[in-house]
Amino acid sequence: MKPGSDVSGLNGGESAAAAGLSIVVPVFNEAAGLQALHQRLSALANTLRQRYALACEVVYVDDGSSDSTLSIARNLPANGIDVQMVSLSRNFGKEAALLAGLDHARRGAVLFMDGDGQHAPEMVEKLVSHWIDDGYDVVYTAKAHRDHEPRLRRAAVRGFYALINWGARQKIPEDAGDFRLLSPRAAAALKQLPERNRFFKGLASWIGFRQFRVDYEPEPRAHGFTTFSAGRLIGLSIEGLTSFSVAPLRIASALGAALAIGAFLFGLSILWETWIDGKSVPGYPSLMVGMMTIGGVQLLMIGIVGEYIGKILSELKARPIYFVAEHTVRHSDPAADAS
Ligand code: UDP
Ligand code: MG
Repeated sequence: MKPGSDVSGLNGGESAAAAGLSIVVPVFNEAAGLQALHQRLSALANTLRQRYALACEVVYVDDGSSDSTLSIARNLPANGIDVQMVSLSRNFGKEAALLAGLDHARRGAVLFMDGDGQHAPEMVEKLVSHWIDDGYDVVYTAKAHRDHEPRLRRAAVRGFYALINWGARQKIPEDAGDFRLLSPRAAAALKQLPERNRFFKGLASWIGFRQFRVDYEPEPRAHGFTTFSAGRLIGLSIEGLTSFSVAPLRIASALGAALAIGAFLFGLSILWETWIDGKSVPGYPSLMVGMMTIGGVQLLMIGIVGEYIGKILSELKARPIYFVAEHTVRHSDPAADAS
């Protein structure tokens, strides 16, 4: 078995200035808002440098965009902030893009934020202060409330977290988003997790350390539309569940046991009726219902087991999670910034 790993050398707050901060931004068809976002990030980097003597870099991960995102990202000015541009060979999905950003981050602490303007750069200061001033390792944001969301969706979200956290030692906080800051040692820990089926919120919580929640209301998208439709969210939930928890398998076993016990009791009652009461038992409707119930449940359970086998297959194939097609690094010029 793999022994545990010591990342304690990469301590929290006190070595912050030496380590600096990498801001990882996955972008997929975000051409419309990218320049504006970059300006806000440059301003943020200046503030952080003045207040915490923190050196910042931003890592844009172009997740195979089909619009002009890539050409805009190539030419973003390195004003007071180092700029890395990592372009993936195709669209691998947000989780893969986040990992690519984490792998390329060179500053120690890592902050993940969306490229669509929903995660305000101005909030970052607050997250950084919980890391440097208060010494937390994982500072995550969570939706303050879901009042404006449809009831069905809220119920689905609650069900999802109940299932994924069932029996788990380290609970994944409900409503936590991908907007989060990891201290150098937390980022180093996250980098060591080898799985191919990434579920970032889950992994970032699983690593432990001192975690801190900040309630936060995401802003509306600056441009365009969300890429996460209902269907994709359901897919992501199944992905998260099966790569993180065996609760569905336990439910399958429990349901199978309950059905078997029910069938046994039903059988006993039929025996009683024929032998003791001497009734002739009416046959086929109850038989059909029983068969269809058991058939349906069996198919569903095979599907669940299949999901896990699929996970095992993709872990076994051990393919790289993403390919980098293009990578550029531009360093900011402090002399130019001073002017
Ligand atoms: N994103 C990505 N790859 C994808 C889909 C999305 O890198 O395949 C990025 C997208 O550019 C954005 C972030 O992930 O920066 C969040 O996406 P979106 O705003 O569509 O999701 P939502 O905010 O609705 O959860
Ligand atoms: Mg968004």
